Amino acid sequence: MKLLFLGTGTSVGVPMVGCRCPVCTSDNPRNHRARASVLIRRGGARILIDTTPEFRVQALRFGIDRVDAVLFTHTHADHIFGFDDLRAFTMLNGRPVPVYGTPDTLAQIRNIFSYVFRPVEQPGGSKPEVEVHEVNGRFDAAGLTFTPVPVLHGRLPVTGYRVGGLAYVTDVSHIPDESMELLRGLDVLVLGALRFRPHPTHMNIEQALAVVEELKPRRAYFTHISHEVEHEAANQLLPPHVRLAHDGLEVSVEEEG
Ligand SMILES: [Zn+2]
Ligand SMILES: [Zn+2]
Ligand SMILES: [Zn+2]
Repeated sequence: MKLLFLGTGTSVGVPMVGCRCPVCTSDNPRNHRARASVLIRRGGARILIDTTPEFRVQALRFGIDRVDAVLFTHTHADHIFGFDDLRAFTMLNGRPVPVYGTPDTLAQIRNIFSYVFRPVEQPGGSKPEVEVHEVNGRFDAAGLTFTPVPVLHGRLPVTGYRVGGLAYVTDVSHIPDESMELLRGLDVLVLGALRFRPHPTHMNIEQALAVVEELKPRRAYFTHISHEVEHEAANQLLPPHVRLAHDGLEVSVEEEG
């Protein structure tokens, strides 16, 4: 199973519009971060987590030509505003794209993208066609079995996902004990870690490191990173099995943890 990071930036992206800080003006491409999303590949199957505002650009950059399932973590704009660009995959797949999320997440997507769920208004009017699947516990998608991992993003419930030895958990400030149990024995843990300073709705790097220390995955990658974090300098401060992810990073993951 392969994990490809399509984006590793916080909600405003890095560089941040109008910012002239050393990270936003850095020549190092690892300091350029699109909004956070990953693609899981196993055999011919492609599973996307979240559709960012940059989803179309990410799909072009990484040559994504099919999507068999889309899993949503939550409905903040930086995670869903590329939803309409699933249109391309409705056409490429020749059928509706299966999308997965908790009942609350799907209800909000139906509300925000209400036109997608209304009958076609005129011939030739194009919109994404999706097949909606409510997540209420373990589920199969595109031939893989996923376990939802409920976490908190401030007070907002967010869904992380585990598949085999991989877990993707971003936009998180607290992981309840029951969810920590779902994250044991991992090969790769991907965890949101915004910056060094504390934040009310995201873990900072110190808090994310404490979670890694507790869960002991073989490897951990941090994502959803702000412009306050310079890639190379921050990596030097981290233990060798913990790295900042960067856009375009691809990692092989054990099927079992
Ligand atoms: Zn976010
Ligand atoms: Zn900046
Ligand atoms: Zn969020």
